[in-house]
Amino acid sequence: MRRIAAHYLFPVVGKPLHRGVVTLNDKNAIVEIGVLQNETESTEFYNGILVPGFVNAHCHLELSHLKNTCTPHGGLAGFIRQINSPARYRATAAERLAAMSAADREMQAEGIVAVGDVCNTAESFAVKQSSPIFYHSFIELAGLDEAMAGKKHQSARLLTAGAHAMGLAASITPHAAYSMSEPLLAAASAAANDAGIMSVHNQEGEEENTLFLSGGGALGKLFTGSGYALPPVTGERSIYRLLPYIEPHTSTLFVHNVTTTGEDYEAATRRLPHLTWVCCPLSNLQISRRLPPVGLFYKRNAQVAIGTDSLASNSRLSIIEELKIIHKHFPQIPLHTLLQWATLNGAQALGKESELGSMSVGKRPGVVLIENIDFTNMQLTSDSKVTLLTGNYGNTIIS
Ligand SMILES: [Zn+2]
Repeated sequence: MRRIAAHYLFPVVGKPLHRGVVTLNDKNAIVEIGVLQNETESTEFYNGILVPGFVNAHCHLELSHLKNTCTPHGGLAGFIRQINSPARYRATAAERLAAMSAADREMQAEGIVAVGDVCNTAESFAVKQSSPIFYHSFIELAGLDEAMAGKKHQSARLLTAGAHAMGLAASITPHAAYSMSEPLLAAASAAANDAGIMSVHNQEGEEENTLFLSGGGALGKLFTGSGYALPPVTGERSIYRLLPYIEPHTSTLFVHNVTTTGEDYEAATRRLPHLTWVCCPLSNLQISRRLPPVGLFYKRNAQVAIGTDSLASNSRLSIIEELKIIHKHFPQIPLHTLLQWATLNGAQALGKESELGSMSVGKRPGVVLIENIDFTNMQLTSDSKVTLLTGNYGNTIIS
């Protein structure tokens, strides 16, 4: 048994508790939540707030070796051009593995207990297998060449089966509206609907909308210049290409949403009751100097989760740093809401809410201490920092 208390405890479900205390059994499962009556010798007391472990709803572990290699502020097309450049992939297999291991350790240190991670290869599987973090691997399909669709789908199936054989959660997912031929988008979406979960990049830049509205813009230029086929010009914004392919029962993570409007939001939420809007603000600032419409999402009471994206477009894999930047630009959003976005909503999107995401009896969410809080306004400060106080959480195998 372990009793951990602090100035405030945010169970995330329910109100914050002043002098809250959480009692854990020896497997770190929560047996009781309450308010500290009298400090006993067996209670650990911390100066700060206690929150459940964070969920990073969007990452690409296998791009970790690309840290600090991309020139910022080039927009989405500029980022894609750089990411696809062969010069970016000169790192050896050992260097790539070391970078992924370091990224995994960084996330553990940042109190992250679950990750929705996008993969194009099996390179990250070994790191995930030995990590205490729960990973759902989204095996991503992309490609505008119709003739390649069958072959690509088959190799994604093999990759997914390989992950399952290693005991990892994994499912096939489409990359984005703009990067897929019709047959590939149909096949990837059908596989995601079958699995009941999808993570797709949505409206990361205005270039995406322009491509579908007119066939032009920076992405059109990039694809034509590279000899790729263009996706069909639909005359509608890019989000509308995705919606018909996704079935309402599917837990859908729309990632980025930088240029999503109120109208786009309404259309998507009407069709998809299990839709989560994943915001990766630091990546968006690095790529295009823009932020997602977080104020709109807050006003509409949207289901929002937080992602870091990869080290190719972010210098940190830290959910608290993402929350700080949201707080700076949208100070009207209460800390309680930010914490729900960073924990429970991501856990729900990944289907892990029965184990993670809130301080609830029976769950093993990990207990995170955040220090350097502005208690007067109950907000984060630029000095707020995270410590994970418990080891075993989620689906960690306990011997
Ligand atoms: Zn991504």
